[in-house]
Amino acid sequence: MNREQRRAAAKQMKKDGNEELAEKVVLFGKLEDECLVCAKPFDKKDKEMVMSWSVVVREKEEKVNLYCPECWNGAIEMLQQAKEEILGLEEE
Ligand SMILES: [Zn+2]
Repeated sequence: MNREQRRAAAKQMKKDGNEELAEKVVLFGKLEDECLVCAKPFDKKDKEMVMSWSVVVREKEEKVNLYCPECWNGAIEMLQQAKEEILGLEEE
């Protein structure tokens, strides 16, 4: 599906009263084809990749951020560490 077709499909769906789905289609059209952090290529047709990679939709910014499993796990670990540090400081 090219950009024009996607727009036409979204428009049609809006007409049908399915605004939420229409927005998702438009957002999916904005999906990157590489990891936001390490630029590892992402293959939308690879089912295993689609299942294991993490997609964060920022609807306000109309952005879709894509993370490979390694970077996603790294981000979670970093958050966990930061949380522990904050909790550790609170204990003192
Ligand atoms: Zn990555």
